[in-house]
Amino acid sequence: MEAVGDVYTIPQEHLDLCATIGQIAREKIAPRSAEIDEKAEYPWDVRRLLAEQDILGLPFGVEYGGTGTGTLMLNMAVEEIAKVDASCALILMVQELGTLPIQLFGSDQLKERFLPGCASGERSPAFALSEPEAGSDPAGMKTTAVLDGEEWVINGTKNWISNLGVADFYITFAVTDRETRRLTAFVVEADRPGFSVGKLEHKLGIRASPTGQPIFEDVRVPQENVIGQVGKGLSVALGTLERTRLGAAAQAVGIAQGATDYAVAYAAEREQFGQPINEFQGIQFKLADMEISTAAARELLYKACAMADQGHPQRAKYSSMAKVFCSDTAMAVTIEAVQVLGGYGYVKEYPVERMMRDAKITQIYEGTNEIQRVVIARTLK
Ligand SMILES: Cc1cc2nc3c(=O)[nH]c(=O)nc-3n(C[C@H](O)[C@H](O)[C@H](O)COP(=O)(O)OP(=O)(O)OC[C@H]3O[C@@H](n4cnc5c(N)ncnc54)[C@H](O)[C@@H]3O)c2cc1C
Repeated sequence: MEAVGDVYTIPQEHLDLCATIGQIAREKIAPRSAEIDEKAEYPWDVRRLLAEQDILGLPFGVEYGGTGTGTLMLNMAVEEIAKVDASCALILMVQELGTLPIQLFGSDQLKERFLPGCASGERSPAFALSEPEAGSDPAGMKTTAVLDGEEWVINGTKNWISNLGVADFYITFAVTDRETRRLTAFVVEADRPGFSVGKLEHKLGIRASPTGQPIFEDVRVPQENVIGQVGKGLSVALGTLERTRLGAAAQAVGIAQGATDYAVAYAAEREQFGQPINEFQGIQFKLADMEISTAAARELLYKACAMADQGHPQRAKYSSMAKVFCSDTAMAVTIEAVQVLGGYGYVKEYPVERMMRDAKITQIYEGTNEIQRVVIARTLK
């Protein structure tokens, strides 16, 4: 086993910022969570709040109006919001997911056109890779783009796209060479003729985040909207996801901590057999295990984020490991949180059933946990 870099340190100002974000989340977002989950309603008020507080600037460099505070700080913020509401944390996560292709691979012109509006929170992006028949294997996608004069003409239907109908532009991946099946990444603005919002899904969790099918029918975009090189779209997608799956891991840690904190407080109040249930060792051990696994998940997440910030050669492996461990932890911990609350854990009056439903997606998106295990196993040969 190779050494994997220095231990990370978190600057005091980042801890202070995190505490402020946590307070905003508890005071302003938590009271909305049950309602936006029930109604499956995109919380425009929360998005405005995150913009006003410069939280949506966290994924961006100062040259584009962002905070320039890096990946670890961004994901500490995702965690803080996810402690109370995983759907609202996704607003910040997609702000990174839908702009990182431009940040990492885009031309200066694309950066100038699209990044400042997202850093200020006025505009929102989406990342449109998955298709009905191409999820884990994006190379199997059917969406095509064909060059016609100076413009690319895009046709196809994407699937499961977060921020559908909310996004101002979609990072869209399409096959541009049918023989070699090479992909290219494009920026497609939502107001281009031929673009439409298709079916929206009814989901188990993260219900306040709209997910669905953007449709592209002879959508024409100029050559300037190509991100990186023609034919190198798969590298754009994988290079982005390598970093953004840390967001899913942070969301998972937030959910796990939120559920643990709620269960701890509940167990101190709820009495059975004439005493608080936290006096029973059976409950104490559950709470202790929830705290232990969440803390362990957080350490792996922060280390992986620090490695991303340092450009460490093993950052992709650690990003995958953090994603798997944190999401599996969130699932296990939230199931236990429901158990600690008993019947009250199973009803919507209490938040832990929502946390359990929200936790599940973290094992699926940003590359399923099975695919991450395949990727990690490859590094062990
Ligand atoms: C709520 C939600 C939001 C999403 N947001 C976005 C988004 O914004 N943008 C976007 O592009 N996509 C998005 N996705 C799509 C998501 O990334 C895919 O669902 C995911 O990659 C899995 O693809 P699939 O659903 O087609 O499953 P499949 O690829 O069909 O997989 C089905 C099962 O087979 C397993 N499997 C597949 N291949 C292998 C293998 N080689 N070895 C072992 N097991 C394997 C998978 O792990 C899984 O368990 C979102 C999905 C959801 C549900």
